[in-house]
Amino acid sequence: MRAGNAIQYDNPNNDIPTINSLVVELEHYRRQSELLTTLNGLHARLAGAVDLPAMLEAFSVWLSPLINHELMAYQNPGRERTHMICSSHGPERRRIMQIAQDAFERLNACKDSCCWAKDEFYVHNWSLHNFQGSGIILVLKKDRAITQYQEQLLAKGLEIIAEPLQRAQEYEDLYQQASCDSLTGLANRRVFNERISTIIAQAKRHGHPVSLACLDLDKFKQINDTHGHAVGDMVLQRIADVMKSMIRDCDVLARTGGDEFVLILPDTNIKDATVLAERLCRAVDKLDLPAAGSARLGISIGLVEWQQEFSQDQWTQYADVALYQAKAAGRSRVCCWQPAA
Ligand code: GH3
Ligand code: MG
Repeated sequence: MRAGNAIQYDNPNNDIPTINSLVVELEHYRRQSELLTTLNGLHARLAGAVDLPAMLEAFSVWLSPLINHELMAYQNPGRERTHMICSSHGPERRRIMQIAQDAFERLNACKDSCCWAKDEFYVHNWSLHNFQGSGIILVLKKDRAITQYQEQLLAKGLEIIAEPLQRAQEYEDLYQQASCDSLTGLANRRVFNERISTIIAQAKRHGHPVSLACLDLDKFKQINDTHGHAVGDMVLQRIADVMKSMIRDCDVLARTGGDEFVLILPDTNIKDATVLAERLCRAVDKLDLPAAGSARLGISIGLVEWQQEFSQDQWTQYADVALYQAKAAGRSRVCCWQPAA
């Protein structure tokens, strides 16, 4: 006798669910639901991450209880980006990061996409092209390779992270474009305005000196008039490159107008700022640039050290006054702002 979907222990015709097959099915649903909970955890972590390093960190933190790993790294050669999240410290950290770097070079050279071992580490990699993204994810694991089940789990995670990673890079590209002067690659006025207030706030809090320079090329218009705008552009690029190579990473050099630049020098008093500004002047003088008609192309620089009583506007105005004085005194020189006697 057969009654609807009645459960039978004995199922000779194989057409009614048995207890065993139901148990298997239930176990399948339980695993599915567990997997969904796990993947929701990744969505939740990614929701709080806006940039690429934060996303990679969120992915690594999510993965840690599921797959214990020493390093997660991401590289996108097309966009010149590499980020590594490493849980080790000291010499081991350096060794692991070197292995990851070597792995990226090897991958870029031979497009090898398998897992391989180096010392006691297993290096796994995935191309995000397979997940509608771009770049490569590396996971480096000590002593034991990733199992097939872990690999499937990771693939689910990569499906989730590929698109947000792509979006974060597009956002970074746009931000970079919006922050950069397209001719010289220096920061633009927007970045200068953003950075100057933070630098003033830090100088106030820590009592460190900070100096500001306004720079303007001398007789630059004549370069354009004599040789054309393309040569003028090349001159601007060369001068920007030289100045950039002479300052520290923490200094902010921005192009704020045609042949105008500003330079913020954190932790620098007026004496040291003058030494640097003189060096910049002489470096521009020494460049083998096309002649500016009958005149000589140089750079004039006005300098002022920040004082507690200055407002931000006063500070920039005083640097501009000093620049005007440098021009008036004959150009190609440095003038420091002096308070009126
Ligand atoms: P001064 O010594 O008084 O500064 O004289 P100057 O000839 O440098 O005059 P000024 O600074 O006023 O002129 C800047 C010139 O820069 C005017 C403008 O035609 C030119 N310029 C502005 N932007 C660009 C640019 O992107 N490329 C080129 N080639 N020239 C530019
Ligand atoms: Mg000028």
